[in-house]
Formats: sequence, structure tokens, C-alpha cells
Amino acid sequence: MSLTDDLYRETILDHYHNPRNQGKIEDASAEVEGVNPLCGDELTLFLKLNDQGIVEDIKMNAHGCSINTASGSMMSEAVLGQSLEKAREIIENFKNMMLSKGEEIPLDDELEDLEALRGVKKYPVRIKCALLPWNTLLEGLEAAEKKCCHHT
Ligand code: ZN
Repeated sequence: MSLTDDLYRETILDHYHNPRNQGKIEDASAEVEGVNPLCGDELTLFLKLNDQGIVEDIKMNAHGCSINTASGSMMSEAVLGQSLEKAREIIENFKNMMLSKGEEIPLDDELEDLEALRGVKKYPVRIKCALLPWNTLLEGLEAAEKKCCHHT
């Protein structure tokens, strides 16, 4: 294993053992659940948007493998405080990176921690574990947007 692999593994384990933004939001704009039956990963995601469409709070309750929990933890940090539009851009960037075959897709500089998950691509079964929080977030954003944002 190379030094970079070690660093990436440490990042993943850090987020697994100390997942950020765990818990629930009582007055959430949306609450959605995601399940990955292949691995047994389960995730409940709470989102709170303000009326400008900014992700004001995000919390989750993850019961799953290290990849699922770490991915969710890093995701929560990446989208907290972002606009809906920016959050969707981040999701797209990460999903494209994870799903690309052949040519590697770079992540934005600000998503540095998420680079750690690029190595998961070597284990196709685990890609679903890494993507579960992100797909759940997409659903959550849509539900939250319907509920609380007024578009002109
Ligand atoms: Zn998993």
C-alpha cells in the first residue's frame, strides 16, 4: 500500500469513527431514508433549508459499513451552508467521479476529503455504499425544495 492509500484510509476511518453531523433535526424540511440491501447500509437523512434555499442544517443517522458512514459524513460537511444549486453540483461532481470508467474525473479542490473515496472504485460492489448517502441527499433536496422554497 502506498503512502497516499494510507492517508486515504485514515481519512475514511476518521469519518467512520467520528461521523460528522449525526443525529436528527426536529423541524426538518425533509426526512428521507436510503437503503442499500446489497450491504445492509441504512441511512436516515434530515435536511433543513432556509427560505433562500441554503442548506442550513443537515443531520443523518447512518447504520452501515465504513464506506457508507464515511461517505455520508464527508458529504454532510461538503453541502452544509451551500445553496441548492451548489449542493446539486457537488453531488453531480462526486457521482461522476465514482461512476466514471476509464478516464478519471477530478473533484473540485474544496472536496478534497472526498478524494479518499476514489479508491473505492477498485471494489465495484462498494460503489453503491459510497453513493447511497448522495442519492438519498438528492431525494431529500427535492422534497425539501418543494416544501420550503419559493421560486419566481
Ligand atoms: Zn456498505
